[in-house]
Amino acid sequence: MVNLRTAATLLACLALASQPAWALEGKTQGLNRHLVGILWHIQHHYGRQVNVTSGCRSYSHNRRIGGARESFHLRCQAADIKVTGVGKDQLARYVRGLSDRGGVGLYCHDASIHVDTGPRREWIWNCHGHRINHGHPAHSRLASG
Ligand SMILES: [Zn+2]
Repeated sequence: MVNLRTAATLLACLALASQPAWALEGKTQGLNRHLVGILWHIQHHYGRQVNVTSGCRSYSHNRRIGGARESFHLRCQAADIKVTGVGKDQLARYVRGLSDRGGVGLYCHDASIHVDTGPRREWIWNCHGHRINHGHPAHSRLASG
């Protein structure tokens, strides 16, 4: 006779196994392949699922939430992400170290960090509403958000 609890555990394992190890969570639809590659890399590093809290945006949605006018989100080349159990500063530090990343941004009131496949640049919006830029000055006027 099969113990019910064992059966339930077995089913849970099967469900997990049938889900591809690289499956991302959240608003992943339509994301640029290069960007998805970066996100898989992050998942692999932490062994945890990356949750995309904001992915592709329409112009109207982007305007509504106050996104940058030429945001890479409009081209599906940006994602705001978080990883359960990993602080955003820690996550940003890791992503900045990846060779194929573009922009990496941090925001005061957002638990997610911004990652895109544009030119390599970094910024932090601090809690006083000031933007601190790092990286190449030629890119400092590019959209951040
Ligand atoms: Zn963003």
